[in-house]
Amino acid sequence: MQERSFGPIRFIPGPNRGKYPYCHSVYIEGAGILIDPAGDRERLKRLRDEEGVNAVWLSHWHEDHFMHLDLFDDRPLAIHPADAPMLTDMDVFLDAYDIDDPDTRRYWQSVLTETFHFRPRQADRFLEDGQIIDLGDVQVEVLHTPGHTPGHLAFRFIEPEVLFLGDYDLTAFGPWYGDRDSSIAQTVATVRRLQATPARCLLTCHETGVFEATPVNTWDAYLAVIDQRRQALLDLLAAPCSMEDIVNAWIVYRKPREPLEFYAHAEKALMGKHLEELVDSGKVLRVGNRYRRA
Ligand SMILES: [Zn+2]
Repeated sequence: MQERSFGPIRFIPGPNRGKYPYCHSVYIEGAGILIDPAGDRERLKRLRDEEGVNAVWLSHWHEDHFMHLDLFDDRPLAIHPADAPMLTDMDVFLDAYDIDDPDTRRYWQSVLTETFHFRPRQADRFLEDGQIIDLGDVQVEVLHTPGHTPGHLAFRFIEPEVLFLGDYDLTAFGPWYGDRDSSIAQTVATVRRLQATPARCLLTCHETGVFEATPVNTWDAYLAVIDQRRQALLDLLAAPCSMEDIVNAWIVYRKPREPLEFYAHAEKALMGKHLEELVDSGKVLRVGNRYRRA
């Protein structure tokens, strides 16, 4: 993938099409702001040393967006206040993923340290919905876009009409809303809000990354994944199932994937959100430790 510029907004692709554990980054020329430093480490080092990074903004607290934040330890960090606590302490971080199994926690502690260079960080600045920030060459509107995480941010660069969507990434995998504080309802509301936000170009953090023309069905297909997961779960629950049975059906990931500590947890997390929603609406009943369709 190529770097692309839209006025002073530069799209810097991550390795492997920005697939996890990488992501695409955005650099604002002039102001020297880097958003989501988790792509090619050498490229980001060169950016820092040759062009200058004056501040780092994070779209949200997930590890695949801060992997190389340690290169910018001495630069001010901005994030939404709801996503700031997870960066301050690894236990707060793991709790926000709802990871309670001791083995899974140990797995994550080592991966966070070694792969993602986790170091406790305090935010230096909070970004909140509706702020218009004048960066000289460009004005940016901050959009608080919860659902994926409680403090997820999108950015609208008013001229040249570029909208950065962060992890509402319009991929075929569909949205993620599996953390303790994620929400299916907020995800749907946020995606519809972003769809209605005027933009000539969309930037996302994973895979395609740059959308210069976005057919309506790209947004609809992205949200339809939520309905497909819900329906597949309802079909499965024609017969009573435990949470273990549900995870072993691999509705989200389609088949078991390694490392299991990661994927089994992720499968359980997303299915857990759907179960919660279906139990609340009376479509699924809980009997002991099993679930079945009402
Ligand atoms: Zn994310």
